[in-house]
Amino acid sequence: MSNDHTTSFEKQLHIKYIQNLDSKVTKETYEYWLLEHLRLNGLYWGVMALATMNSKESLPEEEVVSFVLSCYDATTGGFAAYPGHDAHILTTLSGLQILLIYDRLNALDESQKAQTAEFVLSLRLDDGSFTGDRFGEIDTRFVFVAVYVLTILQRMTTEIAESSQNFIMDCQNFDGGFGMFPVAESHAAQVYTCVGALALCDSLSSLSDMTASWLSERQVLPLGGFNGRPEKLPDLCYSWWVLLSLVALNKAHWINTEKLESFILGCQDLEDGGFADRPGNQTDVYHTCFSICGLALASADKYSLEEVDPVLCLPKSVASKLKLYKKSSII
Ligand SMILES: [Zn+2]
Repeated sequence: MSNDHTTSFEKQLHIKYIQNLDSKVTKETYEYWLLEHLRLNGLYWGVMALATMNSKESLPEEEVVSFVLSCYDATTGGFAAYPGHDAHILTTLSGLQILLIYDRLNALDESQKAQTAEFVLSLRLDDGSFTGDRFGEIDTRFVFVAVYVLTILQRMTTEIAESSQNFIMDCQNFDGGFGMFPVAESHAAQVYTCVGALALCDSLSSLSDMTASWLSERQVLPLGGFNGRPEKLPDLCYSWWVLLSLVALNKAHWINTEKLESFILGCQDLEDGGFADRPGNQTDVYHTCFSICGLALASADKYSLEEVDPVLCLPKSVASKLKLYKKSSII
């Protein structure tokens, strides 16, 4: 049901916006170097947005793949955000996701893949958590990313699944949400990573409806967007984390999807393309990716978008090729 004032989805404008990102920020500018630590993540956001708009060929595939490979750190087996930087678990996932989207995972040979798995396993702690890199910060995000990378590389085991599940459940709060570590405040982005980690450990059944209920309370009406925590302003990226989690939990019908869609569409830059965190703010590739994926999750047909997998944040056509860990039926 469309309203007269509903803004349309400007697909061609967004494709152009992403294509121009690299040329707009020239290598001479301060901004380019400032964002260097995000480069590989940024590329994943751009590629994923394009793939969701059935337009991944809008970026030069060979250049994209060779940039990803140049971020591979042969010493550790992980990927860095930019060649020569330290490898991190988050950028390792981004690198593998980009290769998967272009169906180029075989650009890594078997020994490189084994080394990448070793890199992730070297970050594992006794309590089932993972650190992000050798510097040792702990965050539930890293558990999700670790089991995701191990899933891509087909290295999940019952032992990893069970210890990861135990750590994640220790991070659950009385309100049904999850924080960054045990006793940390519930936050929508962490809830998504915990729901995702449990899904990849085949343990979603350990969650009660309280989690979905906390998530559905994040919608700020009448605006339609979601906040990350109670009493905060809605932000487009939280809308995405919450929607993903609710879809993964089969509870997307608990929220007003139409209102969410109009909130997302209201964050578009109708002149230059791209999306911002809130209507009228500066656009960026991160919010652009997740708004387009959000529209795809809400109604892929309506916006002529590819369907997106709510756990893996990949087009369903790509995600369906991955074999997920399943608990043994023998007890
Ligand atoms: Zn945001």
